[in-house]
Amino acid sequence: MSPYDSILTAKSGDRLFLLGNEAIARGVLEAGVHIATTYPGTPSSEVGDVLFEIAGKAGLKFEFSVNEKVAVESAFAASMSGLMSFVFMKHVGMNVAADAIMSIAYTGTGAPMVIMTADDPSMFSSQNEQDNRIYAQLAHLPLIEPSNPQEAKDFLKIAFHISRDEGLPVIFRTTTRTSHMRSSVVVGEIQERHREEISASPGRYVALPSNSYRYKETLISKMEEISGTNYQDLLVTRMGNPESLHGVIASGEAFNIMMDSLKKLGLDIEVLKLGIINPFPEKIVAEFMQKHPSVIVAEEVDPVIETACRSLAQKYGLSVNITGKLDGVFPMSHELSPGAVENILREILALGRNERASTYQISMEVPARPPVLCPGCPHRGTYFAVKRAVKMLRISDPVYSSDIGCYSLGDYDPFNEATVMLSMGSSIGVASGISAASDRRVIAFIGDSTFFHGGIPGLINAVHNKSRLLLVVMDNDTTAMTGRQPNPGTPVSLAGQYTREVSIEEVVKSTGVDFMKTVDPYDLKQTLTAVMDALRHDGVSVIIAKRECAILRDNRNKKLGVEVKYTVNPEKCTGCMNCVTNFACPAMSISGNRVVIDPNLCDGCSVCTQPYVCPFQAIEMEGDAGAA
Ligand code: SF4
Ligand code: SF4
Repeated sequence: MSPYDSILTAKSGDRLFLLGNEAIARGVLEAGVHIATTYPGTPSSEVGDVLFEIAGKAGLKFEFSVNEKVAVESAFAASMSGLMSFVFMKHVGMNVAADAIMSIAYTGTGAPMVIMTADDPSMFSSQNEQDNRIYAQLAHLPLIEPSNPQEAKDFLKIAFHISRDEGLPVIFRTTTRTSHMRSSVVVGEIQERHREEISASPGRYVALPSNSYRYKETLISKMEEISGTNYQDLLVTRMGNPESLHGVIASGEAFNIMMDSLKKLGLDIEVLKLGIINPFPEKIVAEFMQKHPSVIVAEEVDPVIETACRSLAQKYGLSVNITGKLDGVFPMSHELSPGAVENILREILALGRNERASTYQISMEVPARPPVLCPGCPHRGTYFAVKRAVKMLRISDPVYSSDIGCYSLGDYDPFNEATVMLSMGSSIGVASGISAASDRRVIAFIGDSTFFHGGIPGLINAVHNKSRLLLVVMDNDTTAMTGRQPNPGTPVSLAGQYTREVSIEEVVKSTGVDFMKTVDPYDLKQTLTAVMDALRHDGVSVIIAKRECAILRDNRNKKLGVEVKYTVNPEKCTGCMNCVTNFACPAMSISGNRVVIDPNLCDGCSVCTQPYVCPFQAIEMEGDAGAA
């Protein structure tokens, strides 16, 4: 029995208490989607977690694709074959997928297809906070944005209707708050699936210049068509006092914050909530601005709605005062906070600032808790060995080229092994560039999932261009940071079926790399020796540090009732602090002038017992203390 079963079994009219992402998974079932594809990424990951669990029972084909571009291509192929498809990703995944999306906008779809982007204002788990509403403008595609879990489910179905009517993929944008907000959702009927007859003329899906020249005009006219449909009425809501001097235009999470602030201040102002951003609901917004001489635009990240409002005011000659980001009133970065919005409203309405609204007073001192590698994480052994090898070989000024995944935590103390980190798979390309641009020794880190996602072309490029770099592939047998999803290197296939894994060793060998070694990062001596050998090599050398994610092993041990813990023997501990200073397992802490291990955190990996970590053999398996 899966915790997600109710998402599949709930009957029309039932209420479920769902995360936005869980509601989207239910919307996928209610819409009658045949095929869903993704590459996992926070804040979109839970949609995949649910669909992966229930796909078999639901008769849905679900795929963790190798990257977002392939996920989009796969979903598009389903669509042109007459099957409804849904593809979802985090916002930066759209950059990877954009090449395919831009062409699909031109060729159009067969059966309905929706592309979800989960944006991350304030960058809780991302390298940037790009506003993907702009992708819809760039591609000339419709974009729908819900504000809560109920809308997330219901608007998703509307997105599929628009896609069916216009033969275009529809972009569905959430943000972290909408995806991770939990609320009561009334569910609807789950639609039966059927393959649709798609009659496509020859060349219909061929994005050759001669075809695309015509397709562009069709694309523009389809977007104009949507502007004239009643979808805009379904997705745009007006509430509050239509006679108010001020009016508010808002969307997404900014709408929720604005409503809370208006309620808190007891203000009865008319609010126009936009659930469709592209094509912009021009007539509705222009009419709204005609009625309210002062309009406040609340949105997160970029001034997309505000820019459209200002352009409409100019187009229709409206005398309206627009307040937003472009006049410096709302911030240009990050999420809106309730305190900031309250004070903005107070300022506009001359209500006097509430100093306490913008700051949270916490009565106790909270210690800093920087992100750390888990106890027992195999990456700790790899970073420890690399740092030691660099020191032993007296490599001065090394460049550490890091990548996206758990191992990006190698940037923190005590390892500090990230000089540069850009995007998925970039570590190898950047390392290769460093080797061309300087004589500095460069070490690139990449995870198994990221290697498959976007690292392989970088490795081929490095070998082809005779770079001098060490690549460390940190293979923990899972896509760990987003919730331990499978990848092509794991024995469970992307579609949830058992299948043969793709061997990273074989892929590396096939590129022509002439130095490659696979090591166990729990064996510090073996890893250190291999890294030193690799660093002495003059071309592209590759170390594959292979050991499963500690959480996978912990979960298995829990099921088997296996419990191994380590402890510090106070008789032997000299207080040298080598373990906490250079290895820094979070299960260790300092008590007085000695080190102690928290048995609740220790996962029994035993790596700290090795002399590189504890030269005095003071760390022993619990129960063995004092035995030696
Ligand atoms: S055995 Fe040592 S390194 Fe491993 S989790 Fe326990 S304290 Fe940490
Ligand atoms: S390395 Fe060993 S001896 Fe030194 S502080 Fe840690 S446990 Fe004690």
